Parts: sequence; structure tokens; C-alpha cells
Amino acid sequence: MKVFKFGGASVKDSASVKNAGSILAMYPNEKLCVVISAMGKTTNLLEKVTEAWVKQDVTVLELLSGIEKFHQGVSEELGGAGKLQIKQIMNEIRQQLQSAPPSLYDAAYDLIVSKGELLSTAIVSDYLNKNGVANQLLDARKVVITNESFRNARINWKETTSRITAAFDDANPDQEALITITQGFIGSSVSGQPVTLGREGSDFSAAVFAFALDATQMVIWKDVAGVFNADPRYFSDVVKLEHISYRDAIELAYFGASVIHPKTIQPLQNKNIPLYVKPFNDPASAGTLINHFTDSKSQIPSFIVKPGQVLVSVSPKDFSFVAEDGLHTIFGLLSHMGIRINLMQNSAISFSFCIDDHPEKMKRLFTALSGDFTVKYNRGLELLTIRYYNKKIIDKLVDKRAVLLEQRSRLTVQLVVEEK
Ligand code: ADP
Ligand code: ASP
Ligand code: MG
Repeated sequence: MKVFKFGGASVKDSASVKNAGSILAMYPNEKLCVVISAMGKTTNLLEKVTEAWVKQDVTVLELLSGIEKFHQGVSEELGGAGKLQIKQIMNEIRQQLQSAPPSLYDAAYDLIVSKGELLSTAIVSDYLNKNGVANQLLDARKVVITNESFRNARINWKETTSRITAAFDDANPDQEALITITQGFIGSSVSGQPVTLGREGSDFSAAVFAFALDATQMVIWKDVAGVFNADPRYFSDVVKLEHISYRDAIELAYFGASVIHPKTIQPLQNKNIPLYVKPFNDPASAGTLINHFTDSKSQIPSFIVKPGQVLVSVSPKDFSFVAEDGLHTIFGLLSHMGIRINLMQNSAISFSFCIDDHPEKMKRLFTALSGDFTVKYNRGLELLTIRYYNKKIIDKLVDKRAVLLEQRSRLTVQLVVEEK
């Protein structure tokens, strides 16, 4: 069994769906689990629908009809693929929008935003069935079971593994075709509430299926030739990495290389399942292989530039040390408010950390800290992370800017500088 993942860019229009079909046709007689994201920018648009619903804004139906027209257009260009299902899903959303949103914003979000993947998979599955690529559609909400942390749901591994295994069992009468299409990013809680796994979470969904199915390999089909040593959208002199270790992949993803969702690697590493990142416009090419790999010679410096950073410095008002209890308070607040630290450092009487610039969250955090601590912060910063660093690459990226904070380990250096 192989697990494939097609992201938003690989199913963004009718030509892309046809291309995905031709990739699947290259694997006849193979059992495939194909995990698909919402088409193009659908998730962003559904987020806007949710916002309008919660605010009871009149634009909500207009926004929705834009999404409907887009999917109908793709469907028409594919000979009416998924037409009936689009209608049905749209009716469900309209019905939902007529009732008052749940008081919890994140639950409202998951009710609406989870529909994007249902639309894309309905179209792709029907198109493929009508064009010689037989498949069955599996509703991920029936097998990917989570807690109720809406928008960031955590997998219940035991339940999910047992449901996925049963769904793919050869004895299951629904398993007629070798190919199963399912949704990335979505699942449901034990009590049946729809949930999402966090933005860009389809890579992780695919890894969950790969883990449960003991897949022989997983392939993520992308709009790039593989994993590069930096984002090729922003840097021209980049090199493709032929082969990297799980460890390097997880470090790069964790520090913000958006080519792979950071949670993807762990389930694959646990079962030693190789991950290939391959280009959907050149499917026969090698792409990048990620697995257990320890070749110290191939340590090409890789870097990630994270703009929109804020450096926060917190000191106890009474000039006491920032000891375990102070850190406990600070970390408790950060965790409770869902704020992730991208870099941290402490001295005797101050604790500094770098976070993404979310004005609302920062306001709440600073208010909560202001009782015991003096808070200072700098906005408009960039966080540079370089793995396998050397002086030349540091100088090039810093480009004569002042370094506000620096942290080095044996393999990775992180530097906070002002944005250009
Ligand atoms: P999808 O959601 O369609 O699966 P994404 O847009 O999430 O795809 O990921 C692909 C994008 O990741 C590329 O277009 C590229 O700009 C970006 N990217 C960021 N860092 C890297 C990197 N180190 N190597 C390759 N691509 C990268
Ligand atoms: N459709 C979701 C998103 O855009 C999940 C994904 O694409 O991975 O975030
Ligand atoms: Mg993505």
C-alpha cells in the first residue's frame, strides 16, 4: 500500500485534476490511499464564510455562492464530475448557515471549513471513476477520530488506527477498487462533531493513514521539484536536497519550511515509512527522499526566513530571578493562549522569546503578564534559522543588519534581525 497526498495546488483547477488522474494511472495494480486537500484557496474562502456567519454579516451567502460557482465551473470542465454532490454539500452549508453559530468560534469554523475537502474529493473521485481510474470514496470523518480541540484536533491513535485498518480491509465490501480517495485535514470527534487538524494539515492526515496502514511509502505531490535548501519561491540560488533524514526534515518543518507540515514526520519515522516529495508536473522524477539517513557528507546548509516576528522581553518587577516558578507562569499563559515560541533565551532577570505577530493574542498576553512582569517588545523582525550553518551563509542572510538575539547549537543557528 502506498499513500499519496495531493495538496490544494495539485487540484486547483480542472487541468490539475486531470494531471492528478494521469499520475494515478501510472500505478496500475497497486493499492493506493489518496489523500486530497481542498481545491486551491477554498479553505481561505471558507474561513471568510465562517467569519461572516459568526458576525451575522449579510455577505455570507455571496461569499458562499463564489465558492459554489468555482466548484461548479471545475466540475463542468470535467464533464459534470461530482455535480450532484456539490449541490448536496452546498445545501448542507446553506442549511447550517441558517441556524445560529455555536458559541465556540472554533467549533463553528470546523463545521464550515471542513466542507472544502468534501467538495474536492467528490469531484476528483467522480471524475476518476468516469475516466478509467476506478476508486472508492472514504469519508475521513468516519475513520480519523480526534478529541474536541476544534481547529487543532488531536488524533485518537488507537481508535483511528483500528477504523482505518477496518475500512481498508480486503474483506470490507466497500473495498472494490484498488484506489481509495479520502480527505486530508478533517476528521471527527468521538461524539461525531466535525473537526480540522490545523491549517496545512493534509500532509499530516496522509501520514496518519500511512501509519495505520503500514504503508510501504508515502508520496506528497507538490508544485516544486522536491525539498530545497530554502523556499524556491523567495530564493533563486537554491539546491534540491536529494535525500534527507527524518531528523533534518522535522527540524526544517518545525522552524517553518512550509513544504511539509511539521507533524507529518513523526508517524512515518515511528514506522520507518519513507516519504517522497515529488513534483506533480514531472511525476517520473526522483524528488526528495526522506528516511533514516545518516550521511554526514551531505550536510548542505538549509535556511528558513520567518518574517513578521516580535521579540518579547519579560522581567520580574521586583528584580527577582526568572526562576522555575516565573517560567511556569509565562509558559502557562503562552500555552493557554495558543501562542507558539519560535525562539527563547533567558538571563538572570529577563526571559526573551520570539513569537509570530498576532496583535490580538499579544494584547491579551501582555495584559496577563503585566501584574508581575515588565514587558518590552520589538516588532517588524525576521527570524533566520540555518541548519548546517557556516560563516558565509550567516553573513549573506544577515546582510549587515544588527542581530537582536542569536542562539547556536551544534547544527543550527537562529538569529533575530530587523526586517529589510
Ligand atoms: P500544497 O498545500 O499544495 O501541498 P504547499 O503550498 O503547502 O503545497 O507547499 C509547497 C510550497 O512550499 C512551494 O510552492 C514552496 O514555495 C514552499 N516551500 C517552502 N519551503 C520550501 C523548501 N525548503 N523546499 C521546497 N518548497 C518550499
Ligand atoms: N485545506 C487545508 C488548508 O488549506 C489543509 C491543507 O491544504 O493541507 O489549510
Ligand atoms: Mg499546503
